[in-house]
Amino acid sequence: MPGAVLLPSTVLTMDPRNSRAEAVGVLDGRIAAVGSAAEVTTTLGEGAERVELDGLCLLPGFIDAHHHYCLAAFDRRMPDLHLPPGSSMEALLTRVEQAARERDSGWVRAQGYDPAKLREGRPPRAEEIDSVCADRPVLLAAFSFHEGVLNARGLEAMGWDASTPDPRNGALVRDRRGLTGEVAEQAFYVAEARSRESLLETAADAWLAECEAHGRDLLAHGIVRVGDAAVPPSFDDLYDRAAREGRLPITVHRMPVSAGSLIEARIESGPTGDGPPVTPTGPAKLFMDGSERCALCFSIRAVVGSVGGQLRKAVGGAGLAALRAATRSPTPRRGRDGLLHVGMLFWEEDALDQAVASGAQHGLQIACHAIGNEAVSRALAAIERSRARLSELPGAPRIEHAIFLERGQPRRIADSGTIAVIQPHFVYDVGDQIAISPLPPSLHALAFADLASAGVEVAGSSDYPVSGYDVLAAVKAAATRRTQSGDVYRPDQAIEVERALRAYTAGSARALGVESETGTLEPGKRADLVALSGDPLFTDPEHIDELRVDRTWLAGELVYRAQPTPAR
Ligand SMILES: [Zn+2]
Repeated sequence: MPGAVLLPSTVLTMDPRNSRAEAVGVLDGRIAAVGSAAEVTTTLGEGAERVELDGLCLLPGFIDAHHHYCLAAFDRRMPDLHLPPGSSMEALLTRVEQAARERDSGWVRAQGYDPAKLREGRPPRAEEIDSVCADRPVLLAAFSFHEGVLNARGLEAMGWDASTPDPRNGALVRDRRGLTGEVAEQAFYVAEARSRESLLETAADAWLAECEAHGRDLLAHGIVRVGDAAVPPSFDDLYDRAAREGRLPITVHRMPVSAGSLIEARIESGPTGDGPPVTPTGPAKLFMDGSERCALCFSIRAVVGSVGGQLRKAVGGAGLAALRAATRSPTPRRGRDGLLHVGMLFWEEDALDQAVASGAQHGLQIACHAIGNEAVSRALAAIERSRARLSELPGAPRIEHAIFLERGQPRRIADSGTIAVIQPHFVYDVGDQIAISPLPPSLHALAFADLASAGVEVAGSSDYPVSGYDVLAAVKAAATRRTQSGDVYRPDQAIEVERALRAYTAGSARALGVESETGTLEPGKRADLVALSGDPLFTDPEHIDELRVDRTWLAGELVYRAQPTPAR
């Protein structure tokens, strides 16, 4: 093949040594040259095809380092329960009714509601779901995918009633009348696994079709590679089949978790990088804490200082979506360290050290889900203790989310060589709720600028379906701190557009241990490319999400091209 010279209006290489170019030469699926049009033409020779891309800006294909691909494909046809703020319970239940019609038997699953955005300010109750679907088990997952609600049939299918104790690391929410249907963390994940496995018995072919369709959706958004942040064993077979049958349109790194619950570790698989090239094993996922019930700690002084002594109120507000967590979370515990602790911390130190060591023995890179500052501390301590071992593995250790950070933590993340896998679009999704929560000022939420100035390597991700996967919308949120209400949350924590784009390219490639293969436009790397309708570095960040993905290439092959917009 004679190769091709791509001639856009500009090239952003994401390679800091050589950040702009005029042309990219592609040969045999690889980047053969990057530079001026003349240089690239000389390298590729006269026989190369010239591809004029007038007005377009060429970048490395986007990489979403934490994206729940197998689950998204699994629930792809279900109505989305992400509703705008101020929506009613009735509107939510209408969607549930639609979800029940989507499949004619077995469990009904749907995801996305946020209690804090519903007018009622709470999740639905089991009997409310029964009012639209009583004859089959229903599991509704909250947007965080860490908690949800079962209807009566769902509770029955799980064998849960008022006499059932809470599982370790989980909660069956109760009131005077018994179970409300709401389930959190391990209780949610056990129900999630049960409902999924029972549907999977007959849904394998359907999953493959949705897997293909989801991949094509991502290509249309310029996303060429993701880390699937929770892959239970049943999806290993499906991913292998998708790879064999050529039905996986993008590269998916599988991050193993256990069969019975997504928050339980699976550290006997591996090594990282093994498996079919289109879906290799990624890092093992270890959950340090909950989501709405993330593990936070702070001094009493910090709390009292922030809200004039209203301790209960202050402590309650510290969770991911503010006070709603508190009303359902136990009161803060006073630790032996004299600090106040809220939320759920899943790992004891010794067990965590063992898990990290055992993962390293299997050649597994480590990714620790840690939202709260206490969980981040626990993850960092384990990473620091196993640093020598971890440094021999492909891919640096990762912390997923790192949402609430205390002073000194960004520096500690940087010093330990850990990558922070952030979700900039959370600023849009939950910035309004965090803004009104009386968070102690010692904790900074979604502190992208703190991470950047401490020198932390940052990878970009959506956590889809928790948040939307549009990279340009996330870059806008990172650079403007614009929230869903239109307010601006903590503008001092904004980062520049270029840095945000680097997170979704070079940073995510590092987070998946494939930086020598992709993430920047350099000779020798895979020609995974995206062409945007304009130059994001010369676009007002407030309008950056209006740029369009015009084309996407995988290994030099054009795999997506936008339909021309009809002339008016
Ligand atoms: Zn996730």
